[in-house]
Amino acid sequence: MGLKIFNTLTGRKEDFVPLQEGKVGMYVCGVTVYDLSHIGHARCYVAFDVVYRYLRGSGRSVRYVRNFTDVDDKIINRAAQTGDAPVDLATRNIEAFHRDMDSLGCLHPDVEPRVTDHIPEIIALVERIIGNGHAYAAPDGSVYFSIDSFPQYGQLSKRNLDDMVAGASERVDEDPNKRNPLDFVLWKPAKPGEPWWESPWGRGRPGWHIECSAMSARHLGETFDIHGGGKDLVFPHHENEIAQSRAASGKEFVRYWLHNGFVNVDQEKMSKSLGNFFTIRDVLALYHPEAIRMFLLSTHYRSPINYSARNLDEATGRIEYMIETVGKVEAALADGGPEGGEAAADVARVRGAIGEAMDDDFNTAAALGHLFELCRAANDWVARKRKTPGRIETLSAIRKVLAEAAGIFGILERPPATVLSEIRDRDVARLGLDVVDIERVIAERWAARQAKDFARADALRTELSARNIDLMDSPQGSTWRVRRQAQE
Ligand SMILES: [Zn+2]
Repeated sequence: MGLKIFNTLTGRKEDFVPLQEGKVGMYVCGVTVYDLSHIGHARCYVAFDVVYRYLRGSGRSVRYVRNFTDVDDKIINRAAQTGDAPVDLATRNIEAFHRDMDSLGCLHPDVEPRVTDHIPEIIALVERIIGNGHAYAAPDGSVYFSIDSFPQYGQLSKRNLDDMVAGASERVDEDPNKRNPLDFVLWKPAKPGEPWWESPWGRGRPGWHIECSAMSARHLGETFDIHGGGKDLVFPHHENEIAQSRAASGKEFVRYWLHNGFVNVDQEKMSKSLGNFFTIRDVLALYHPEAIRMFLLSTHYRSPINYSARNLDEATGRIEYMIETVGKVEAALADGGPEGGEAAADVARVRGAIGEAMDDDFNTAAALGHLFELCRAANDWVARKRKTPGRIETLSAIRKVLAEAAGIFGILERPPATVLSEIRDRDVARLGLDVVDIERVIAERWAARQAKDFARADALRTELSARNIDLMDSPQGSTWRVRRQAQE
């Protein structure tokens, strides 16, 4: 069984057959850089990061393109408020976006084109669409795509053109420059004070949708394999991209359309007006990046996902368990033992199951479930007697699968002790705890135990527990961790 992908265009799961065997061209719509990115962006770009990692890891040569919309109404309006030049605001937010993506462990795409670097390509594309009779220039210097010239319009979003026309013509605020109320803009005339470029239609700038048709053609060709983005982009953005690209080239545009589901916050739609809006930075201050990836990837990319403290705590517990497992496996292997046995067959079976889950439309939720199962087995093998036949072979096979999975999911790649302490730092910060104070109480309790004052030691343990601190005693001393909501 090979890779199967759910294609929004056909509404079916299909065998993945790229244009050229062994090569994949992939385009994902990027951000409009007028502000910091939010948890919805994190979901989209982590999902496609894993698609990219998996395609590469399975031996394909992938060219991943993700654009920046760096000229747009939102950028112009925000820059007017802050007194920045639009280009400076955009550049600053691009840098911030890169830092967020690096923190989240997302690999860099192969190309990150900016709209303002592709104006000649955009103008040439608009001219071609006009030349093919699919667009027209209006007297005010705008260029519109003519919906009536493209009968397939609505195919991706499964909308009926007649219904849309009927709906749109009821609106009273109709633009007199448009021939059909559904026609969308390819080129806009510049208002005073706005950024502009010379064009055959006067000074102006591109509409939003045309940039992705122009930049994908430039960097991937007129037909390519995978186009991704959030579900909110299906209509009108991706519908319009299809219309533009096919009107220009006359060829198939994209072979597989992938769309990720929404992020809700505490079961509600995330929005600034509801006050439940989180930037990636807000979330990174509270939760470890590997916990965030675990949270995002524990649901299939097409399903909606619910951001809540409980779900993030739960994901933190899962990643912590996996990281601890990696540490224990490494320690056991370093400790060594008698060799010459055979690795348990279960390891190969779980490895196969992870691959099958990923081949099934990138089912990361199922794949991580298998990985979790492997970690349980790993702990079991670590705990067995050193001389158990096959123990070293099994643990070393497990370590290989863990390393492979680390590459696919972008987790478990850093030294376990470092990540565990970073996780605890965030637990402490989230609850507003004072580490120095906690360690003082722990030292006091340890002294009471040494002095055999068990009543005092128990009282101090209870006091710590009331502050969500759990102690783990060993002959060498006590270590501690923060109890999370999901563990209560
Ligand atoms: Zn786009």
